[in-house]
Amino acid sequence: MKLLITGGAGFIGSAVVRLAVARGHQVVNLDALTYAACLDNVAPVADSPLYTFEQADIRDRASLNRIFTEHAPDAVMHLAAESHVDRSIDGPGDFVETNITGTYNMLEAARVWWVQAGRPDGFRFHHISTDEVFGSLPANPEVKFTEDTPYDPRSPYSASKAASDHLVRAWHETYGLPVVLTNCSNNYGPYHFPEKLVPVVILNALAGKPLPIYGKGENIRDWLYVEDHADALLTVLEKGVLGRSYNIGGENERTNLELVRTLCAILDEIRPKSAGRYADQIAFVADRPGHDARYAIDPSRIREELGWRPSVTVEEGLKRTVQWYLDNEAWWRPLQARDGVGQRLGTGRGAA
Ligand code: NAD
Repeated sequence: MKLLITGGAGFIGSAVVRLAVARGHQVVNLDALTYAACLDNVAPVADSPLYTFEQADIRDRASLNRIFTEHAPDAVMHLAAESHVDRSIDGPGDFVETNITGTYNMLEAARVWWVQAGRPDGFRFHHISTDEVFGSLPANPEVKFTEDTPYDPRSPYSASKAASDHLVRAWHETYGLPVVLTNCSNNYGPYHFPEKLVPVVILNALAGKPLPIYGKGENIRDWLYVEDHADALLTVLEKGVLGRSYNIGGENERTNLELVRTLCAILDEIRPKSAGRYADQIAFVADRPGHDARYAIDPSRIREELGWRPSVTVEEGLKRTVQWYLDNEAWWRPLQARDGVGQRLGTGRGAA
C-alpha cells in the first residue's frame, strides 16, 4: 500500500513511518517540520526506496492538492497536529489553525483526489486522535472511555482535536469519504520530544534537576508504548470497519506520581547516583489549569473486533525508554535548545 502519513517527523508519526516501511509499505511523509519535528526520527528508513519526504504545511491547501496528485496514495494516516496541552493554553490559535483548519484541508484534498480516482473502495482516511476528547473521568476504576462516551473536551488542545474528529465523521456521512478514526491514550517511548512528562523526568533526573509534578501527582493516565500504538494504527487501517472509531489504550493506568517513581526506580537500577536516589529530586509544582483528573480506555472494541492488544507493560516499556534516552544523547541534547523546552508553559498566564 502507498501511505500518505502526515506528521511523520513527530513522535508517533515517525513510529508509524518506521513500522510501515519495515512492513513493506510505500510511505510519503508529509510534515511542516515545526518546533516538535525532528527528521532524525525517521533516519532508520530515510534511505529506503520505499520512503519519500514532503515538507508541507497542512494549512496550505494548494500544497496538499499537489501532493495527492503527485503521489496518488492508497490511504492517508493523518497525525500532523499541534500536540502539547500546555502550549495550547498559552497559544490556542495555532491549535485551531492546524488541528481544525488543517484537518479540513486534508479532508477536502483527500476527497477531491478520491473522487478524481473514481472513488476506489479500498481508499482510507485514517484520522488519529486522542482520548482527551472525552473529558475527565472519576477515580472509579469501573468507569472508562468507550467509543460511545459523549465528547466533553476541556482544554484548547482537546477541543481542537474533538472538532477535527467531528469534521472527519461529517465527511464520511455527507460525502461518503471512507474514513476510520482512533482515539488513543498517553503515549511514551523512544523519540518523545523533551517537553513531555516522561522525557522531561528522565533528562532532568540525569541532569540533577527537579522532577516537576503538577499538583499532587494524582492525575491518572493510561500509558501506551508508542511502538504498540503504531502497530494498533496499522491494524485499524487494514482491518477497521469504515466510518467506525476505535479506542486504543495501554491497559496501564498509573498516577503521574506512580509513573515518575517508576522511572526513578529504573534509573536507580541502571544508572545509580553517587549519593541518594532519583526520587529525592521530585518537586511538586502549581497544577495545570483545568487539569483532567483521569483518562482510562475500555479497549473492548479493538480487542474483540480486530484482535489487537498492547504487547508491553508500562514497566517494561519504561525500561526500554530509559535505556533509549541513555543511549541517544545525540538525539535529545540539541532538542533541549528549542523554543520553550525546559520552561514551565501553560500556567494560564502566558501570551496568546
Ligand atoms: P508531535 O507534536 O510529536 O508531532 C506532530 C508532528 O506534526 C510534528 O512533526 C510537526 O512538525 C507536524 N505538524 C504540526 N503542525 C503541522 C502543520 N501545520 N502541517 C504539517 N505538519 C505539522 O505529536 P505526537 O505526539 O506524535 O502526536 C501525533 C498525533 O497523535 C496528534 O494528532 C495527536 O493529537 C495524537 N495523539 C497523541 C498522543 C500522545 O500521547 N502524544 C496521544 C493520543 C493522540
